[in-house]
Amino acid sequence: MNAIRRLSLAFAFTAALLAGCGTQVVNPVTGKTELSAMDERSEIAEGKKGHEQVMAEYGVVKDARLQAYVNQVGQQLAAQSHRTNLQWTFTVLDSPEINAFALPGGYVYVTRGILAYMESEADMAGVIGHEIGHVTARHGAQRATRQQNAGLGVLAASVLGTVLESQGVSGAAGLSSQVAQGVAAGYIAKYSREQELQADTLGAEYLARNRYNPSNMVDVIQVLKSQEAYAADQAKAEGKPVNQRDDWLSSHPSNEQRLQSIRRIAAGYKGQYGYDGRDRFLQAIRGMTFGDSPEQGLVRGQNFYHPELGITLTAQPGWRIQNSPSALSFVSPQGDAALRMLAVTPKTGTSHDDILKNGLKASQGRVTRGNINGLAATHFAGTRILDNGQAQPLETTVITGPKNANYALLYLAANDAAKARAMPAMNATEKTFRPMSSADARAARPWAVDLVPFPRGGFAALQVTGVSNERQLRLLNGVYDGGAQPRVGQLVKVVAQR
Ligand SMILES: [Zn+2]
Repeated sequence: MNAIRRLSLAFAFTAALLAGCGTQVVNPVTGKTELSAMDERSEIAEGKKGHEQVMAEYGVVKDARLQAYVNQVGQQLAAQSHRTNLQWTFTVLDSPEINAFALPGGYVYVTRGILAYMESEADMAGVIGHEIGHVTARHGAQRATRQQNAGLGVLAASVLGTVLESQGVSGAAGLSSQVAQGVAAGYIAKYSREQELQADTLGAEYLARNRYNPSNMVDVIQVLKSQEAYAADQAKAEGKPVNQRDDWLSSHPSNEQRLQSIRRIAAGYKGQYGYDGRDRFLQAIRGMTFGDSPEQGLVRGQNFYHPELGITLTAQPGWRIQNSPSALSFVSPQGDAALRMLAVTPKTGTSHDDILKNGLKASQGRVTRGNINGLAATHFAGTRILDNGQAQPLETTVITGPKNANYALLYLAANDAAKARAMPAMNATEKTFRPMSSADARAARPWAVDLVPFPRGGFAALQVTGVSNERQLRLLNGVYDGGAQPRVGQLVKVVAQR
């Protein structure tokens, strides 16, 4: 969550339809001609627009050394790809999500969340190579064409769609449709199975051309597959249902069939591949934030802390805190209601009335003024009128927090019954909105990836930081589902408090 979803941004998206039904474009990978809504020039233009949105939504990891390293590996892969003429950009996003995605025109992103679980430079190159494959084979442009034909705007389809493919959006989709025009409003699309397989194939090819072993494509999927196993085990241990995931895995199903194909493809390469860049990679991610960051806000138990904004909120028992790049949400145990917080940009308005009227399009309703923990708060319950004239119910509270920053808390529910049931808890959550105390600041210290020599006592002996248990450490080091233990003295990853 980058200072929580910016309200002006959320309402700024419009679906730009390109005129006409397309031009003939030669696919750089297949060499075949395809009818496309996007030629290379518009791919680059749409990608650039999308890139600005991604930067605004996510923010980047502020570590020039790490960014330069990832960019260097990416540029080498791209230089051996089918589209060396593109201006490629590789960016590490400041997100704990396990994610990677690409935009048309040559924009590739990996999150620090996915890097933490990679074991080597070759693993990382596998993820990047797969995403380069989506770009070189014009998958985003193909999807934009399909969706334009289906009556959706090209920008919405290609750019937002790509971002959302990776975010999943899962159960939040129904809720977010209530925040009309929101980023998540209905543009969820996935690459086809054929496109994923083609991206895997291209990823393996680009690895091989860069002296990495193509079998790292297999390792990557297996490392990520362990995440699913861990999540399932965790849910079982806590007696909870397994949550839908919102990450690279959900958009890139690691089913056995896909693993088999990657294995087959990788086995087809017979070259000598000695270099995996493990040490170089580990040193590059040493010190990288793990989990939530102060810039994005941290979840610790039922508390949410945002040190940069200086605010804290506490979730009610049983409620989940969902801190995604696009919004902060407190989600009901049934998943059918949410209190969603948005940061309001000064451009949207500075007075509560302005924000209600211009930012949230509030129309008829009841306005109640009060304060929450000493902060001015205005509650509105009524209707909002969208730009297209449609009326929607709106219940929200606008609060002025520290540094005169304004926030809107939206009461969202799947239906009236769900809203009625969730109302007391949403109210109670709202009342926990408060400026951060020094005790809150101590609780909000971030975690970071560190390296230590693997001890004789194994993973059990590594549980020294108190941040991760043995199972999490196994997961972090790629041996969750068994596999060879690291050698004693070999550097392994741990999570330490900053
Ligand atoms: Zn993919």
